[in-house]
Amino acid sequence: MPIRQLSETMINQIAAGEVIERPASVVKELVENALDAGASRVEIVTAGGGLNLIRVTDDGSGIPERELALAIARHCTSKLTEDINDIRSLGFRGEALPSIGSVSRLSIRSRTAASDSAAEIGIEGGRVLPVRPAAANRGTTVEVRDLFFATPARLKFMKGERAESSATSDVVKRIAIAFPAVRFTLAGSDRSMLELPAADDSAAGSLRRVAQVMGADFPDNSIAIDATRDGVHLTGHVSIPSFTRANALQQYAYVNGRPVRDKLIAGAIRGAYADVLPRDRHAVTVLFLTLDPAIVDVNVHPAKADVRFRDPGLVRGLIVGAIRQALADAGVRAATTGAAGMMAAFRPGATSYGHGSPANGHRSYDAAYRASVFDPARSSQRPLDMGFEGADFEQRGLRENEQAAFDAGPLASADARAGQDEAAETLLGAVLGAARAQVHENYIVAQTRDSLIIVDQHAAHERLVYEALKNALHSRPVPSQMLLLPEIIDLPEEDAERLALHSETLARFGLGIERFGPGAVAVRETPSMLGETNVQQLVRDLADEIADNDTVDTLKERLDKIAATMACHGSVRSGRLLKAEEMNALLRQMEATPGSGTCNHGRPTYIELKLADIERLFGRR
Ligand code: ADP
Ligand code: MG
Repeated sequence: MPIRQLSETMINQIAAGEVIERPASVVKELVENALDAGASRVEIVTAGGGLNLIRVTDDGSGIPERELALAIARHCTSKLTEDINDIRSLGFRGEALPSIGSVSRLSIRSRTAASDSAAEIGIEGGRVLPVRPAAANRGTTVEVRDLFFATPARLKFMKGERAESSATSDVVKRIAIAFPAVRFTLAGSDRSMLELPAADDSAAGSLRRVAQVMGADFPDNSIAIDATRDGVHLTGHVSIPSFTRANALQQYAYVNGRPVRDKLIAGAIRGAYADVLPRDRHAVTVLFLTLDPAIVDVNVHPAKADVRFRDPGLVRGLIVGAIRQALADAGVRAATTGAAGMMAAFRPGATSYGHGSPANGHRSYDAAYRASVFDPARSSQRPLDMGFEGADFEQRGLRENEQAAFDAGPLASADARAGQDEAAETLLGAVLGAARAQVHENYIVAQTRDSLIIVDQHAAHERLVYEALKNALHSRPVPSQMLLLPEIIDLPEEDAERLALHSETLARFGLGIERFGPGAVAVRETPSMLGETNVQQLVRDLADEIADNDTVDTLKERLDKIAATMACHGSVRSGRLLKAEEMNALLRQMEATPGSGTCNHGRPTYIELKLADIERLFGRR
């Protein structure tokens, strides 16, 4: 067959193969266009999961009638000037509309502020229909019907209506986070509706939008991030370590306002939390990177979700550093979800000896419910003067021997008690308050001015030992052991070169590495803490990581892991009775130690129950 030029429609269909994977990709492109046009409202309607209909209406700048034909012509854009290194809009390739128009029936109706009437153009399977007058307000409505009718092979790959609708909803949420001042609505044929009212562009507005999308409990369980390094600015929110998910889907990242899925950012988040989360848990994060468009390449893939940073090490370092710092500054802080779960557990009727939960299971104490089911003989709210015989009390109250153990402490003697009371009074103002008792041989009960604190003493102590070990580890060179025979590792030349460049840092972590001719390195020393270790694997992992991120965090993380294991063995086991001073000392140490709000495995080390909530439990509020 002779070589010949493909038809315009065929070229557009080939492009569509990459850009328009499914209905959600159409929605993404159309919403991006609306936002590039400066819209303050974007309305999306779909039917049949988007395969029958997608309609996006905006109140943006509109397209002049004479440009309608250009809008659906390939490589025609109003966004890119002469400089591919200076992309400030979401779109720039000029191929979304022609691609969509080559595989569906597309119409664009638009009106600019300068014009007193609207005009419309259509394109069906690549065939352009003439421009004609239409009625519309200022802005643009793009309608896509029968998506993929012209490419049945692609149509066959669509999942069910529900799956396509949910992919669309994800796309809208993802992009909406970056544009808090814009109102978004999304309606599907199954009457599902997503409504995101306009907030504003301030930090508070941004957080409000994040809460609309990610859930109202996120702001309470997250920390603000704001850091700058070498002209790269990072803002956003990250979850505290006790607020996690089983997958990384709730990690949103934006580069200059563009939603991206980026391995480097995901890796940096994992690295930042390596210390405080178990491997199978994931933080919830929203991160916005703002940087000079010239030092990030967004022209990597037609879908524009991939980016390449000119200096990946800088970006990774900024993210890891900022998140770690924020976690440390937030200090001891437990998740409110833990306390909420506890509230539920305490609620009358929620326990095994109760009467079943109230049907409307909401939080506030329902007086009518109480009146209808209150049974003094069985209620957990039994008046105290009813006597304590009965097995129930064993499950709820202090056991006698626990109280005795506590009373045997220094607080028991009257003299000591007076002094202690004074000290305790000032301690009430501390974050973790004054220790009052130890129960079940592992839980310290403490009191602040407005809350009750319960500390898991084993978890807390383990964390403190770990932090101390890590500090020791990173404040001076890590002890190393000499290998009897140096280990020679063959590597691609670039990897060997990169490792050699980092040899000084590696030496600080106890790994003695040097070039060994072309395409090889020799390892002469390894960190003693690692013990018998697979040196080949370690070095290859390090080479990969340097190539990806320009850091040697792998080694650091491995050493931290060992510190964590050692800490676990070296810490106070539950079961040890502590004196009041010991308990208070532990609380003070926790307050002074960054990251002590969670144990090494990411569980909270303490929970806090507000007095107001306790009073609610007793129906006092
Ligand atoms: P790109 O967004 O990469 O420029 P598109 O094919 O998505 O390419 O759109 C082509 C052009 O049509 C845009 O550059 C813009 O000028 C115009 N356009 C598309 N959608 C809209 C809209 N909703 N409002 C105003 N102009 C639009
Ligand atoms: Mg576009």
